[in-house]
Amino acid sequence: MAGEPQSDCLFCKIVAGQIPATVLRETDGTLTFRDINPQAPTHVLVIPKAHYANAADLAAGDPAVAAELLTEAGEVAADEKIVESGYRLIFNTGAGAGQTVFHAHVHVLGGGTSLQHPG
Ligand code: C5P
Repeated sequence: MAGEPQSDCLFCKIVAGQIPATVLRETDGTLTFRDINPQAPTHVLVIPKAHYANAADLAAGDPAVAAELLTEAGEVAADEKIVESGYRLIFNTGAGAGQTVFHAHVHVLGGGTSLQHPG
């Protein structure tokens, strides 16, 4: 069922505390932690605690938490002091776009001048 924890999902295991993560922020509906393989000086992931395979499924299943993902992304960007220099929010959606963990997440990338444009 949509939103239910999946036993084979890496991010559900992080939410459950079964896999460690460097958690920066937490709300009732979201968890924010550092990406284990950073692609920029600041590279953080914001995820819903409930399991949705991608951002579109999350938006359809729980629009309030989908919106909260963006609010939390903005908050962590402020916490990390990357607002002035600018940052990127990325939702990889589908294996063809580079999604490797099929639990919705937004990448928050910033803090450097060497960020590559995806295009
Ligand atoms: O968008 P995509 O699915 O490729 O992103 C998954 C991200 O999850 C990767 O950037 C990867 O480094 C990160 N990850 C993590 N902690 C884990 C496993 C993966 O931060 N334990």
